[in-house]
Amino acid sequence: MSRGDMAKPLLGHQSMEGDPSTTPAAGRTIGVLGSGDFARSLAIRLVCSGFKVVVGSRNPKRKAGLFPSAAEVTFQAEAVKKTDVIFVAVFREHYSTLCDLADVLAGKILVDVSNNTEVNHHKESNAEYLASLFPACTVVKGFNVVSAWTLQSGARDGNKQVLICSNNQEAKRTVAEIAQVMGFTPVDMGCMSSACEIENIPLRLLPAWKIPILLALGLFLCFFTYNLIRQVIHPYIREQKNKLYKIPIEVVNTTLPCVAYVMLSLVYLPGVLAACSQLYYGTKYRRFPDWLDQWLQHRKQIGLLSFFCAALHAVYSLCLPMRRSHRYQLIETAVKQAMEKKMNIWVEEEVWRMEIYISVGIIALGLLSLLAITSLPSIANSLNWREFSFIQSTLGYIALVISTLHTLTYGWSRAFDENQYKFYLPPTYTLTLLVPCTVILAKIIFILPCIRQRLLRIRRGWEKGRYVKFVLPSATGEYSSGETSSNV
Ligand code: NAP
Repeated sequence: MSRGDMAKPLLGHQSMEGDPSTTPAAGRTIGVLGSGDFARSLAIRLVCSGFKVVVGSRNPKRKAGLFPSAAEVTFQAEAVKKTDVIFVAVFREHYSTLCDLADVLAGKILVDVSNNTEVNHHKESNAEYLASLFPACTVVKGFNVVSAWTLQSGARDGNKQVLICSNNQEAKRTVAEIAQVMGFTPVDMGCMSSACEIENIPLRLLPAWKIPILLALGLFLCFFTYNLIRQVIHPYIREQKNKLYKIPIEVVNTTLPCVAYVMLSLVYLPGVLAACSQLYYGTKYRRFPDWLDQWLQHRKQIGLLSFFCAALHAVYSLCLPMRRSHRYQLIETAVKQAMEKKMNIWVEEEVWRMEIYISVGIIALGLLSLLAITSLPSIANSLNWREFSFIQSTLGYIALVISTLHTLTYGWSRAFDENQYKFYLPPTYTLTLLVPCTVILAKIIFILPCIRQRLLRIRRGWEKGRYVKFVLPSATGEYSSGETSSNV
């Protein structure tokens, strides 16, 4: 796939791209009704893209100074007469005040750029409402997903896609050409009935993050309660010691790495389940269950949340020695040792454990940062497929292994110390090891040549129970071909 192909819109609708320099749109006069933020940014961008712009305002004298000198600012009726394509940069509630212009607007293309304040606010979309007010015009919905800021700063720094819909193909093509000359990527969303969907897009609040955030919060709550029982409630019930001061930092700081570590393993678990399903059914053409599909699609967000928790854990850990409670405990221990006349407090094993624990923790955080940075679209787009999969898959698994080492060096031999089992509850770190170790073990099994070869064949189209010709790369990287049947 060429780099140009990779830059194409990700939405599954039809792209309307062509060569902007050859489109008939370039150089034509475009009208803008309204003189607010959006109208101003739109006019600037249109002028910069080589269009003649005429702005229709109720008060042109007052507003003219706000627009570039190349744009003509005049009364609404005057502006409408000078062009066939008019952007209506006015809020829906003021559409009816434009009805006086119905006669001059007849036969022209109206571009509805409006948004609502709530999802499905009105019975019909704003564009359909505009079309009902001006039946002699052709209405095209578009540009509402682009902000005034994006228009001014240029398509490169903001969202590049402009979603367009209309019942008139010709009008839609004209608006798409204008969008393209302006440097945007027009995306055909079909007929006017899609307007409602397009108007709801800018109102969505992080739709891809809902499930990962709920997952992180759920894990945080579980581990927090578990740590609270072990670190605060247990000493209170068993020894009547008040350890509530531990809640804001210590309990939170033992909870965050648990969430980060389990979340990191949840990035790789769906891949393992998908591979198991493919091996079991002997095909890649069988659909995964919906929950697994959803899970696979949310891996990036889960990974970023894992990084977020790990970064917070690092900051919390650095701040541990700053606490008063820590200083008091340190002095208390020193006094105790002095009274017991203990001069040598150096425990070689503890020293080594701590050095290794901190070192692998730093490496794990560094790798997580790399995974997070390369998952950003601007960086990911600059990598080829092999580089991206090396970082996200190979380095990702390495990060999981190093995080496991970090957890194991933290726990050391505590899992075998019966004093660590508060209310018979094992230390938290032993619980967190379950999923990551399963994922690492599964990955090791998938690396075994017999399993790896079978998985590779399946992913190249081979199916159990079918007689197909297959071509596989040999160990030297050369391709060897052969014929096989299901029982090979
Ligand atoms: P705005 O700054 O309030 O401007 C609205 C303009 O509407 C006014 O400047 C006014 O211009 C004109 N207008 C015409 N008839 C009006 C009336 N009866 N009462 C009041 N104003 C009237 O709003 P905006 O931010 O530019 O937004 C305009 C449209 O673009 C809205 O539909 C909005 O949803 C959409 N939009 C905005 C953005 C954004 O980033 N701002 C992004 C996407 C979509 P005159 O006084 O010169 O007539």
